[in-house]
Amino acid sequence: MKFSELNLSFELNRAIEELGYTEATPVQAQCIPPVLEGRDVIGQSQTGTGKTAAFGLPLLEKLVVLDKRTPQILIMTPTRELALQVSQELRKFAKYKEGVKIVTVYGGDPITGQIRDLKGGADIIVGTPGRIQDHIDRRTLKFHQLKALVLDEADEMLKMGFKEAIEQILQDLPEERQTLLFSATMPKAILDITNNYQNNPVHIKTKQKEMTVNSVEQVVYEVNQGEKVKVLVQLMEYYRPESSMIFCNTKKMVDDLSGLIASKGYSTASIHGDMKQEMRSLVMAKFKDKKVQHLICTDVAARGIDIDGLDMVFNFDVPQETEYYVHRIGRTGRAGKSGISVTLVTPRQRYVINELERLTKATIDRKEMPSLNDIQAVRFDHMTTDIMKTLKADIPVEIKTLVEKLVDQGLNPIQLSEALLYKVIGADIFVEAQKPIEKQRRAQRINSSTIELDVGLKHGIAAAHLVSAIAEASGISGKDIGKIRIQDRYSHVEVPQEFVKEILDALNQGTIKSYKVKAFEISARNTAKPKHKDYPKTFRPKR
Ligand code: ADP
Ligand code: MG
Repeated sequence: MKFSELNLSFELNRAIEELGYTEATPVQAQCIPPVLEGRDVIGQSQTGTGKTAAFGLPLLEKLVVLDKRTPQILIMTPTRELALQVSQELRKFAKYKEGVKIVTVYGGDPITGQIRDLKGGADIIVGTPGRIQDHIDRRTLKFHQLKALVLDEADEMLKMGFKEAIEQILQDLPEERQTLLFSATMPKAILDITNNYQNNPVHIKTKQKEMTVNSVEQVVYEVNQGEKVKVLVQLMEYYRPESSMIFCNTKKMVDDLSGLIASKGYSTASIHGDMKQEMRSLVMAKFKDKKVQHLICTDVAARGIDIDGLDMVFNFDVPQETEYYVHRIGRTGRAGKSGISVTLVTPRQRYVINELERLTKATIDRKEMPSLNDIQAVRFDHMTTDIMKTLKADIPVEIKTLVEKLVDQGLNPIQLSEALLYKVIGADIFVEAQKPIEKQRRAQRINSSTIELDVGLKHGIAAAHLVSAIAEASGISGKDIGKIRIQDRYSHVEVPQEFVKEILDALNQGTIKSYKVKAFEISARNTAKPKHKDYPKTFRPKR
């Protein structure tokens, strides 16, 4: 259905046109007429289907700004991010409708600024339940003129524990009002609200679920927990999204991963529930404006937030509540565009894949990890495109002169290109391709050997000193160091036999706690407790 068939005013149609909407989505086509008529509506449709306009347009259409500005429309959302997003969207719709004032209120933001905004008067309030209630209690918000209430993402609000706050707010609103409720799911708790607070509502349920998820290509990779970070980095290389969201289940993982991904040269930012509200808003704005390419986040950012041109969603962790999977992957493939979602699943979580397929009514592609050669090939492709682009650019004359000079000095242009490309691409990927990371310096643990060092308790030696000295000397992991016994004047350490020579060489050249040490092998068997006779005569410890 075209927007022009929906009897909206010229002002709104003009704004809609500017936003590039031509067809109304099903939930819009079905909700707009009854809302215009003043009916109560329950709108049930998946995320990304255009619910904001489904209530926003008809409510704005009917809004007549009062001489003394007083809130006439109240929209409640579960999170601050959503409140801000809904306000922004409504402002765009109202661009050509004179004098509509929208104020957003939410927790985590200093209340004084909000009070000042509210004193200036508002026609529409968008906010989170807790803070709205706070303002009602302080009498900084009065709803005696309220005409319409919207509960956006009602199921989520209940999940977040806003039931009481919502019910208390509802008590304070005039009974003569229109109540609209939007939700992706309709659990019983929501039906209770509609029964108690809506008046003969029209229930609109659209089957847009398939549409949203069908535009997302879903892929899973099975990986061991310990390899997830490495795999994620490789997949980022392979898919090369311009913009992606990476979802983790814990704040700590978000922090850890942000650092790691950033250290690989990606432009990243992160969001989780422990961050101050101003910070979260700032980060979100930066991400939406494409000032950062990759957002690493917990589910705080999953629900309802709309981002233009998001190519990919990575589920670094499978969400604990599988329902969130749909919300997460719904961030990409919005409004008719296609997107990819990549989920890392550990072998133990394999069973979840079927559940996710049932939930999304789609098949999920179980893929093998691309080989390092595939990743390399993608990198080369990318590089070739870059070089082609550069060839077309105006290359400064200084560069040309430099090349001439190098060639004059006898450098052949092919060698020169090879050297430059090697420098740009970096040696690391070739090294990686030769030896898988997990095998790197991990001992076989088949044969171990005990070495003795001539430092002990008297020298203030603790196990940590020995472990770090050996690890540093040889590059083996602390995990590969076996039993450690520290005596008064000497210590014994069990180490993988294959590294003994290297370890001894390094230890004999270095110091531990600034003691110059003598280290030697005493046994080539797996003995944590060497027998006295195992020692070479000259070094036999005094008993
Ligand atoms: P929901 O609340 O159902 O999750 P939103 O209202 O956030 O969905 O809308 C999702 C995206 O679709 C937004 O970017 C919005 O601008 C866009 N959109 C909404 N309606 C239309 C339409 N009729 N045509 C094109 N894009 C639309
Ligand atoms: Mg929404």
